[in-house]
Amino acid sequence: MTRKYVYYFGSTRTDGDRTMKELLGGKGANLAEMTRINMPVPPGFTITTETCDEFYKAGSVWPEGLEDQVKEGIATLEQELGKKFGDPVNPLLVSVRSGAAVSMPGMMDTVLNLGINEKTLKAVAEKSGNERFAWDSYRRFMQMFGDVVMNIPHHDFEHALQNIKDKKGVKLDTQLSVEDLKELAEVYRGIYRKAIGEDFPEDPWVQLSHAVNAVFSSWNNSRAIRYRELNEIKGLIGTAVNVQAMVFGNMGEDSGTGVCFTRDPATGKNVFYGEYLMNAQGEDVVAGIRTPQPIATLDEKDSDSYKKLLKLRHDLESHYHDMQDIEFTIEEGRLYILQTRTGKRTVFGALNMAVDMHEEGLISKEEAVMRVPAQSFNQLFAPVLGADSKSAARFVTKALNASPGGACGKAVFTAEAAEEWAERGESVILCRLETSPEDIGGMAAAAGILTARGGMTSHAAVVARGMGVPCVSGAGELHVDSDAKMLKCGDITIKEGDVIAIDGFTGEVFAGEVSVKPSEIVQVLRGEMKAEESVLYSKYQKLVSWADEIRKLDIRTNADSPRDTEMAVLFGAQGIGLCRTEHMFFEGDRIVPFRKLILVADTVKRLREKIETGTENLAELEAELSEPLATYNEALAELLPLQRGDFAGIFKVLDGRPCNIRLLDPPLHEFLPQDQQGQKEMAEEMGVKAEEIALKVEALHEFNPMMGHRGCRLGLTYPEVADMQVRAIMEAAIEVADQGITALPEIMIPLIGSVKELEIARNRAQKVIDTVLEEKGRASDYISYSIGTMIEIPRAAVTADLVAAQADFFSFGTNDLTQMGCGFSRDDSGKFLDDYVRMGVYERDPFASLDVEGVGRLVETAVRLGRKTKPGLKLGVCGEHGGDPASIRFFNAVGLNYVSCSPYRVPVARLAAAQAVLEHK
Ligand code: ADP
Ligand code: MG
Ligand code: MG
Repeated sequence: MTRKYVYYFGSTRTDGDRTMKELLGGKGANLAEMTRINMPVPPGFTITTETCDEFYKAGSVWPEGLEDQVKEGIATLEQELGKKFGDPVNPLLVSVRSGAAVSMPGMMDTVLNLGINEKTLKAVAEKSGNERFAWDSYRRFMQMFGDVVMNIPHHDFEHALQNIKDKKGVKLDTQLSVEDLKELAEVYRGIYRKAIGEDFPEDPWVQLSHAVNAVFSSWNNSRAIRYRELNEIKGLIGTAVNVQAMVFGNMGEDSGTGVCFTRDPATGKNVFYGEYLMNAQGEDVVAGIRTPQPIATLDEKDSDSYKKLLKLRHDLESHYHDMQDIEFTIEEGRLYILQTRTGKRTVFGALNMAVDMHEEGLISKEEAVMRVPAQSFNQLFAPVLGADSKSAARFVTKALNASPGGACGKAVFTAEAAEEWAERGESVILCRLETSPEDIGGMAAAAGILTARGGMTSHAAVVARGMGVPCVSGAGELHVDSDAKMLKCGDITIKEGDVIAIDGFTGEVFAGEVSVKPSEIVQVLRGEMKAEESVLYSKYQKLVSWADEIRKLDIRTNADSPRDTEMAVLFGAQGIGLCRTEHMFFEGDRIVPFRKLILVADTVKRLREKIETGTENLAELEAELSEPLATYNEALAELLPLQRGDFAGIFKVLDGRPCNIRLLDPPLHEFLPQDQQGQKEMAEEMGVKAEEIALKVEALHEFNPMMGHRGCRLGLTYPEVADMQVRAIMEAAIEVADQGITALPEIMIPLIGSVKELEIARNRAQKVIDTVLEEKGRASDYISYSIGTMIEIPRAAVTADLVAAQADFFSFGTNDLTQMGCGFSRDDSGKFLDDYVRMGVYERDPFASLDVEGVGRLVETAVRLGRKTKPGLKLGVCGEHGGDPASIRFFNAVGLNYVSCSPYRVPVARLAAAQAVLEHK
């Protein structure tokens, strides 16, 4: 038996329904569904996506049996409508429409009026009593068929149309007479013959098979492929083809066509939103030839259709339980619906609608939580351009909305300039042809980024989103000249220092000053605006509170300062999952004592070892040690109170929430200046010779620092640094506990490979803890502290049962675990990872979204082994992946206790963690 390729929808029978999107495409599935619930849909049939797949596999030929099924479909249509395909008396005309499972602009445009020819058009004229309409339909069909199906340049037809209008001295298409249109059809015929080498096909069956083939072929045109790439659409097999009886919006002033949304897609407000044109067909509304009217005015023109439309709006929402994007046509006062789909919306719209629809009783809390995309949730917190100010500014161009947020500043054209100007306190917009990794510094310093090239996943777009810097990319109309330090767009020229603004929500670019405001949610959280004054805030608050009821994972934050911690707590963080102590060393002039320490650390270590083992020259060695040791101890003594102060500050802000503190992690060379100038300055500051510093830098040089002397390895070889840090943590905890604030320090030892490393480090830390408690005369349980480790080396993951014996908790450092698990250097993999993703080796960049198949298995193994040894072992994750929704889904599934992410990702993680639970059900 041959496969079923054709699914009919109409009053005779309806084969499909809304659940069959994969097979029938979104358009086809919903046409079937609406027919089922008796909405006024013109009948037709859908050729499945599988057919498209078979068509390709067979080398662009129709599979066996398709032709018969298409003929049967047309026959059913003919019977139902009492018309005949190609009939000179009562002809059936159809549209041919593409439609994949996911809506995909870039695929083939719709062909209308198929089946019309010199013969059938006479009948169309007679039946409608409107000869002009018939000829207009015919010439539109010739143009669409020639352009869309046969790929004759669109321009050739437009040119001919313009010629005739000029010749007749008219402005609008509608002013052309029957005779003019006949003449135009003749010209079109010539264009067709010249381009294709054949006569324009009059046979409707030939028209139909060409059109179906063209839809199939459009699945792999470059526009469609590009769109799928940009939007990460994968795993679809092809497009469906919908063949549907025509209804005519261009039959006069009692006919028309329009598009509308059941709610406002931008704001989410519960208002009917849309546009229409009377006496128009198909894409006229979006083509911009005539200005469409706002939907509310339809009430005056055709009140009956308007009322029916309002009812459809209501019925569709209650049937689909979501905002719908619908297309309709009115033929001589009769309303038809031609398409419905779940409407695209901004994240603001999604939030508003989800909360409203729950409160209207349309959807459950769970559904509301699922409705808001976690991936774009943080757009709610980005600064925005003032709307009034925007409309007053000079519009330059519109491109991709690559990273959300509004920014206004002075244009600069190199990353260095961006850094220099930002240093001086200027707000700058970095304008580049495209960005590259060398530009990172400038990108971070910029208030916004604008590029002429590159898509949604270009370097600029990805990095900007990661940094939370607003970005507009792929602005192809811009000519950016970084040598001349200027850009041009049409007659607008922007030079270095000129003020411009970008809107990363919409992709718009403006010349001149535009006001920038922080998000209302941030204003309310910071106490700069009253909660009651912000609708956005109240909706946000409701949605995240529902998410909190659902989720199982705790959400913590990665923060190293009281300020970041404060923001994270406002965003709902339940603790710190990673406090990187080394970041504190870079603040102000703290780097000075730390650098002093680095300079002598090795000498101290070497001499001490000699003294311990040797008997010879003991006195001499001790004399030699005394000066460097004094420097070493002084430096530690200087650092201790600084660190203690930092920790106390953070504990206070956390106010009883746990705080995971990682002991020193990076290789020491990162703390020394690598360039001559920096070394000279450091030498002056320390009162040593520049050569000495250069020598030290050389000595610390490693071929592979990420696998070198860092993490717990530093702690084992220079234990006094770790001692100092543990002491600072405990003293700070006692200090705040004395003030009545609970401090819950979790001391984390990084980069463990073997349990032995952890055992040594842990014992050493425990000694310091005991000493501090004793010195202060506090009981051993005065502070609830714990000691654990990061799991970031594969060896630790696969021996987690052993490691767990020495750990109170594990925190997965998935950045390093990915680096070492996949064998990809974090700093070098950019060169090939994009290609790898394109080739499908990895589904996504494994540093951005956890490689579940491989690195995920390491995590899973460590979870299982760790809990085997210690059932109550606390488990978390602190890598970049802690804020990535797809990764969060995995962490929820393997049963971690928490994820930790940067402060502004906390709400994203709250939402994603709830969605993970709901999806897992
Ligand atoms: P797109 O996927 O680009 O929205 P559609 O297949 O929805 O393309 O077709 C675009 C427009 O063509 C529709 O909105 C409608 O106005 C018109 N159209 C399509 N099929 C018919 C039809 N059977 N009768 C009348 N108009 C139609
Ligand atoms: Mg459409
Ligand atoms: Mg690490």
